[in-house]
Amino acid sequence: MECLRVKLYTPTGIFKNPLSLKGIEIYPLPPYSTVIGLIYRAMGKKWQGEHFQISIQGDYEAIYRDYVWFKKYDFKKRKLEKLPLQVPILYNLWLLIHIKASEELLNEIESGLKKPKELLFLSGGEYPVKVEEVKRVKCFEKSFSEEDNITLNYHAYIPKEFKERISFSGSGEGILFSLSYFYKNSQKPKTYSWIDAYYFQKGTEIYGSLILDEDNNPVFLAEPIVEESRRAEEEYVRFYAGNWLMASACVGALKVLENAGEDIGKFVKEKSLALPKELWQRLPDLYAEYLLKDAEHTLRASYEKEKDKSKFNPYNVIILRSLGDFYKNSPFTNPALRYITKLKGVFIENIDQVKNQVKTSFIEGYKYFLSKAVGTSQTCFFCHERQAKNYVDATTFTPLFASLETVRNFIWDPIPICKECEFLLYFASAGFYKSAGKYLFVYIPDDLLETYRLNLILSTKEEIEQEKSGRVWSVVKYVLDLEKQKSSWVLQNIYFVEIEMVGDATANIYSFHISPNLAKAIRELIDHYPKNLQDIFSEFLFYIYTGRSLYEFLFLLLSGFFRKESYENLETKTIEARIVKAGSNMHFLGPNLLFFINFQEVLNMNTQKYYTNWAFRAGQELKKLYNENESTQKKLEPLTYRLLEAVRRKDKEYFIHNLIRAYLEVEKEIPFFFKEALDDKNFSMIAYAFLIGLNSEEKSKEEQSKEGQATDEGENSESA
Ligand SMILES: [Zn+2]
Repeated sequence: MECLRVKLYTPTGIFKNPLSLKGIEIYPLPPYSTVIGLIYRAMGKKWQGEHFQISIQGDYEAIYRDYVWFKKYDFKKRKLEKLPLQVPILYNLWLLIHIKASEELLNEIESGLKKPKELLFLSGGEYPVKVEEVKRVKCFEKSFSEEDNITLNYHAYIPKEFKERISFSGSGEGILFSLSYFYKNSQKPKTYSWIDAYYFQKGTEIYGSLILDEDNNPVFLAEPIVEESRRAEEEYVRFYAGNWLMASACVGALKVLENAGEDIGKFVKEKSLALPKELWQRLPDLYAEYLLKDAEHTLRASYEKEKDKSKFNPYNVIILRSLGDFYKNSPFTNPALRYITKLKGVFIENIDQVKNQVKTSFIEGYKYFLSKAVGTSQTCFFCHERQAKNYVDATTFTPLFASLETVRNFIWDPIPICKECEFLLYFASAGFYKSAGKYLFVYIPDDLLETYRLNLILSTKEEIEQEKSGRVWSVVKYVLDLEKQKSSWVLQNIYFVEIEMVGDATANIYSFHISPNLAKAIRELIDHYPKNLQDIFSEFLFYIYTGRSLYEFLFLLLSGFFRKESYENLETKTIEARIVKAGSNMHFLGPNLLFFINFQEVLNMNTQKYYTNWAFRAGQELKKLYNENESTQKKLEPLTYRLLEAVRRKDKEYFIHNLIRAYLEVEKEIPFFFKEALDDKNFSMIAYAFLIGLNSEEKSKEEQSKEGQATDEGENSESA
């Protein structure tokens, strides 16, 4: 058989799952539809129902993280809004594509790719794609035994049907993706057919019945047409956890099922959840029971607190409290709905009766939910299987989706959803772990059961020995342990999603992942985190997980410390304000603050970290000289402000200028070290360490004893 072999190169590629918004989900290679789209643009024509077979392999040099702009349109304000999001980008990407088609079509594709009618881009890339080769190659089938296997030279998508014919040795079973394929319908609204394929990393050894091209590249052609009925096993309702949102919903449902005594392992395979129909029908009941477990205490306590007993509403106490943040104004939470208000003023003598009433109302809500359907001809975006009956909007998952009437979501047209997937999304709130007004979820892209287990650690484990790091830390440690077992692509894509409610219907969504550098810094240094700053440990975690600079963190902290008076009334509603406040609560500066500098420099892979201590000591010594004389003593504070300003502006010249003047003041020459070491790379490190030293309290015992016990251990041991 003959195939067309195409080699493509692009400097950058981002292959987003359409739900990647704030979730940082990418594919390791472009999905089939992306390559098919590129072929049609090269031919300068529209798809008209043709089908051909295609094989996708590729390699990239690195994954890096960068910001890209997402846009959304606000119909009310008639304004285009932009949002910067950090996404993983594949850097220096080569693709090896094989295409098998009828002779006529193959000719057309060949001449299109040799002389494209438009500039070719792969989605998300800023640079045109370079077509490096378009060549007809002979392909043949050959059998390989385990002994004379072949090694993949490229990462590859291997379609599910294909995978059953071959064997693998070495690294794992591959990662299953459901990938968009040919259009099912190219008229608007466009719908895709989907294809299941496993991603295997290069280096994997394979054998069995293979197809090779004339240069011995294996070829993994996908079936030309995807069978619609491939998942039509009637007795199951299936869900596909292909993004963090659906994964959190699946995890929530699994928690509910486990609570009901089910053996959940048998419902999960790789990324999918398959529930027997009979069990699915009982799920609303089981969910109500889950929400009502241990409810007695909550109900009684809130009944006691309610001054006007006629206002007490057990439905709201249980259901609204659990679902309110994530599903504002949904059929389960909208305060205008009758089955919700019905329970107002219920007495609490018979707690079982009250619980039953709440459950009955919840089931009524479910029935009302089922009745809310709109006609669409589209397939559900989430399961790729059932017919959509609605579009997702703010009631389905408030933090992520906007109302379709007022605001179009950031990157997609309305997302069609089936009733089953829509109901499952209501389990996401059970999937997230709630703590101090924040919700946290950890996502492993290739393994739903593992995701479940990890989130169980997050939600049930006792606060561990280091209270400062708590649950998140125990999960981080667990993820670090996975390093050896998982493919590097998976490791790069394990991440946490944190949702912080900032208003009734608004939330900040953050996601963070653990890079190899961060893992190293955590392992080496986390035990030295300053004990007097435990209150802002989670802010610190936020900074490092989201890749923000700890020098910004330190700047806020020092600003708070230096300008105590002006922050007396500061409200601590934001992360930044909490850091400033913590700074203003500090009684003195000590060497333990160098922790932040050291941590940042491990992240920066700086080999000159020893300058930190040097600069700190230089600061201490200068302070000592200033304090020897009353006239210079007064000048210490203005000097500190000027240096802080220089650091904020990253103005090295201004910093050095002030430093020279400062040393002149005490009739000293600026230490040679500064001239040698104060380059752009080391500026923040040295400047902050110097500033901390300059204001550290080692020499002023008086003040410290005035401030009383609020000192850390270092200080106690010194005075001993
Ligand atoms: Zn669905």
